[in-house]
Amino acid sequence: MTGVTLRLDTAAWRSHLRCVADATPGMVPVIKGNGYGFGLARLAAEAQTLGQDTIAVGLSSEVALVRDAFAGDVVVLTPWRPDDELADELSRDPRVITTVSRLVDLSSIADRAETAAAGGTTSRPRVLLEAMTSMLRHGLPTAELAGVAAYADRVTVEGWTIHLPIAGDPVAEGIALAQACHGALIAPLWLSHFPAQAVTRLPDVAPVRLRTGTRLWLGAPATRSTTATVLDVHPVRRGDLAGYRRRRVPHDGWVLVIAGGTSHGVGMEAPTSASTPRQRAVSLFSGGLAATGHALSPYTVDGKKRWFVEPPHMQSSLVLLPAAATPPTIGDDVTVELRLTTAQVDQIDER
Ligand SMILES: *Cc1c(COP(=O)(O)O)cnc(C)c1O
Repeated sequence: MTGVTLRLDTAAWRSHLRCVADATPGMVPVIKGNGYGFGLARLAAEAQTLGQDTIAVGLSSEVALVRDAFAGDVVVLTPWRPDDELADELSRDPRVITTVSRLVDLSSIADRAETAAAGGTTSRPRVLLEAMTSMLRHGLPTAELAGVAAYADRVTVEGWTIHLPIAGDPVAEGIALAQACHGALIAPLWLSHFPAQAVTRLPDVAPVRLRTGTRLWLGAPATRSTTATVLDVHPVRRGDLAGYRRRRVPHDGWVLVIAGGTSHGVGMEAPTSASTPRQRAVSLFSGGLAATGHALSPYTVDGKKRWFVEPPHMQSSLVLLPAAATPPTIGDDVTVELRLTTAQVDQIDER
């Protein structure tokens, strides 16, 4: 096994998934983007194993990537728009639940469904009506909530959807919006970023569904690690040239060529050091390389994070190891810190 590997203690991860599912009323796993590092189909299969009845994807194009691995319903979180032909087709698919965030779109969906139904072939669109939150992403403003009633007989309203910000007071905001939604139409509440322990404070008139992505899939960091294979090891002297940019190596040691580059998401992690002038100054005094324009890499070699020789390449990275360290052997795996919401690993090693 070589390359960038996600090492997973599958049994421990699954018991974490089970715990979150048990503690989250009406849980709807969110499976989108890069599949939180695991891949979309893999997470869809896990949701199936967990016994979930519904999952949520981000884009209409992601439905095809999960529907064979998961037997239940699939919510598309990005609101329906008239120019997304795939979303329009999916709005008449009995397994798909479409998010609608504007009255004009609800009206279009209702009209199109009526036309299709006259042809006798399709089922009634299942929709989630999105209410605008203080996040200002998508949704109906409170003043327009009552307008949905006019269309409720031509679509199946599966519920209201409320996507809360993480900052502020999401519980108070969620409760107030839920009341406003129910004032317009009583329907289940589908909430994101609402704490499970506060569900009992919501209006007790319709079921509650809590969507969760990161907390579910990435919530137990001890159940996994990420490693990368050392592909080459070159001894260097201070002043030698290395890399695409033929920069001078600042001290004796080794240039390591390690698996993982921009296509794996290496170098995409949130800045960890040397991001402010003060930190750059501190690293100058402490002998780091940030002040000379080098960046700290996410690779740990011989016990420490090491510096990039230059920015990561597409599929590998050049990393400098000082002479005082013990160099790895070609083929060794070293730990690499990856932000799994942006990472693309070569394989998952399960044990
Ligand atoms: C992406 C997304 C989520 C999942 O967010 P996490 O922070 O990963 O749990 C939930 N709700 C909506 C509407 C989203 O777009």
